[in-house]
Amino acid sequence: MDPESFRRFGHRVIDWVADYLRDPETWRVLPDLNPGEFRRAVPERAPETGEPFERILDDFERLVPPATTHWNHPGFLAYFATSASGPAILAELLTAALNAQAMLWRTGPAATELEQSMMSWILDFLGLPASWDGTINDTASTSTFYALAAAREFASDLNIRELGMSGRSDLAQLRVYASAEAHSSVDKAVLALGLGRRGLRKIMPDAEMRLDATDLARAVAEDRAAGVRPIAVVATVGTTSTTAIDPVPAIAELCASEGLWLHVDAAYGGPAGALPELHWILDGCDRADSLVLNPHKWMFVPMDCSVLFTRRPDVLRRAFSLVPEYLTTTDGDVKNLMDYGVALGRRFRALKLWFVLRYFGTAGMRERLRAHIRLAAEFGEWVAREPSWERLMRSHFSVVVFRHHPPGVADEAALERANARILERVNASGEVFLSHTKVQGRYAIRLAVGNLRTEERHLRRAWELLRQAAHDVRS
Ligand code: PLP
Repeated sequence: MDPESFRRFGHRVIDWVADYLRDPETWRVLPDLNPGEFRRAVPERAPETGEPFERILDDFERLVPPATTHWNHPGFLAYFATSASGPAILAELLTAALNAQAMLWRTGPAATELEQSMMSWILDFLGLPASWDGTINDTASTSTFYALAAAREFASDLNIRELGMSGRSDLAQLRVYASAEAHSSVDKAVLALGLGRRGLRKIMPDAEMRLDATDLARAVAEDRAAGVRPIAVVATVGTTSTTAIDPVPAIAELCASEGLWLHVDAAYGGPAGALPELHWILDGCDRADSLVLNPHKWMFVPMDCSVLFTRRPDVLRRAFSLVPEYLTTTDGDVKNLMDYGVALGRRFRALKLWFVLRYFGTAGMRERLRAHIRLAAEFGEWVAREPSWERLMRSHFSVVVFRHHPPGVADEAALERANARILERVNASGEVFLSHTKVQGRYAIRLAVGNLRTEERHLRRAWELLRQAAHDVRS
């Protein structure tokens, strides 16, 4: 594409994005289509000869948005709602243009050093130890996998880097501990590390869905007595289902006395620690060995951007560093990002963080986080005031977990059926999208505020749709 064509098409693309961001509500938040329908609209083979770019953009406009679930829609209230903010979208364009593969410092000096600066900025924003090291990965699942790989390496007497794990009669069953409410990425990391399902012991949460530190201590002691080797604990600040906060100070104390690696999953909840009134959610995290936080969840940057902090970068490096001849350099004491994970090539993800943190400023970031928490609290009050609705768990964050529960109905299976139908009807509207969970076996609807464009009117509409659907389902 010659530069002048690029300029012309670039303007058209930016115009499309600007219109999209101005009027996201033009689209259904959840598309109305059947599996396979989109695929059928795409030819089976790549074209033999190149096509005019106008036609490619026409097809994008015609086919893709109607078959997309619009995470940038203000009515997106499912899972953990997120935002791709303007400055971050523009940064992504520049990232693609530069196409830096920052595996080595010399293959991406700005990408490498800006990543280091952004890690310091985020540590400062959250009030976490300035001495920590951080790297950016694609997702929290990857970050947690890397953290637990470091935990396994931290048990250095096992010599797993050299000897591996298979065929060893000298190796005890290794075990990681987490709340039963921890994210499934912990299970996946344990599986991928070859520890097997039995390598993860899940601790039943307390009434507020937090990991019980006394039960954790008992489990560790029991396992040691049975010849199992505990290696790590994962604590969560903001669980996926109900945003519960595990008691990190007590868990950190136990990990310190037992010599266990403590990984904190603050993928969603972490940013709220930047608010002085909520800084306590990060209590004890300064004693963690690693902590993951996803700017692509609640820091207004688009997929993908997950930050893994550790106070033991040397151990993380020991788990992953391997330098083939062609990647050796004489650059001296520099950080080479390829040493901190499986991926060799590293995207210039720090650019979007730089743009966002500068564009909003830390005060602007805090203001927006507070606005989301306030909106969710307001919605929670509407639910709590209505006798036939019930809030199942309180949240310090921007999520409301609730269900329709007419007085006198005690049949859990009937409640589940009714709430699932309510949710289905509401989501079929195309105006809002909510998701569900289970809290202590009870089916619940989940509303998450996290999009920069969500306003009170969107929540009012969601509430109206929910009540209407409850009425329709009952009659
Ligand atoms: N940890 C928590 C608490 C989550 O809620 C999620 C996803 O929602 C993850 C980890 C995994 O995030 P990712 O999609 O970045 O792997």
